[in-house]
Amino acid sequence: MKKGSLNRRMTLLVIRDAQQPPKQLQCSTAAVILVPTLVIASISTLVIGLQIRSSHIISQMETNLAVQSLQMEVTVADKNAAIGRLRREVMELTNQATSIRERLQRITELEQQMQQFIRKHGNSSSASSNKSTITPLSWDASDHTGGEFIAVHENTVLLARQAMDDFQEIESLLDTVERTVPRSIQQANAVQQNLERKQAAQLLQTRRLALAEQGRPSIWPVGSRRMSSSFGYRSDPFTGKSAFHSGVDIAGQTGDPVYAAGAGTVLEANSSGARGKCIIIQHPDGLQSWYMHLSGMQVAPGDHVQKGQTIGLLGSTGRSTGPHLHFQIVKHNQPVDPLLYVQ
Ligand SMILES: [Zn+2]
Repeated sequence: MKKGSLNRRMTLLVIRDAQQPPKQLQCSTAAVILVPTLVIASISTLVIGLQIRSSHIISQMETNLAVQSLQMEVTVADKNAAIGRLRREVMELTNQATSIRERLQRITELEQQMQQFIRKHGNSSSASSNKSTITPLSWDASDHTGGEFIAVHENTVLLARQAMDDFQEIESLLDTVERTVPRSIQQANAVQQNLERKQAAQLLQTRRLALAEQGRPSIWPVGSRRMSSSFGYRSDPFTGKSAFHSGVDIAGQTGDPVYAAGAGTVLEANSSGARGKCIIIQHPDGLQSWYMHLSGMQVAPGDHVQKGQTIGLLGSTGRSTGPHLHFQIVKHNQPVDPLLYVQ
């Protein structure tokens, strides 16, 4: 535009109201062009500034959101890891519960074996008196079970609750074991004591029988087996009259050893007129063995002698017609036939 045209002046009519006269404003052409241009430029600058500022705010918000989202992802990952750990721990607890239950089952079986032992051997009064109070412990995983099937991975809370139920069941079983096992042990001890008493009694009885057997006169008292007179009524060798012979006479040589017919205690070992040198041995069960007409005696009253032990020597002392042994068995102070005891 030419400088001359810019310097030309323009008249602007401003009509404010119908009743008022129009107002004339004189201004240069340059002003008419420059002022709107400046106004438009200012507005544009303002709009652009606002746009820049808003885009900056949006960008900042987007950054914040991304950071928050990342944080949340990290938190969720942490929680998932924690849930995974919890689930593994619950699984471990469940496995432990199963293991403990199996061990309890074995204890239960042992306890039942103990009960069988008690029932088999415990016929004593102490065991039978408690019999009614015993309830054998029983637990069987294959019996009376049920419930909804829930896969392991589906619900950790349900899994934990199941583990808790398992442990409560174990606690209940342990209570029962705690109650029954000491009672069973007590019964087993009573049975054992009873068996020991029986065994001791049997041993004592066996020893008594052995002693009785040892003490019973049963062996022939001299080497010679030649009898010269038997037990019972006979003709007396001195008078020829009928007389009772209270033992058997065994002929032999003077000095032949005389043996104890059974074990026992020497009651008498002395010399008297008719019996000559005579030994009497006391045996169990009221039995005595008498040995008369000895030439020598090797034991004294109070000595304990074994069956077969040499106690004296055959002779002919006292009322005797020649070397022989008068052997006599006395039962409860009555002479009996020695051949009933010795052969
Ligand atoms: Zn005789």
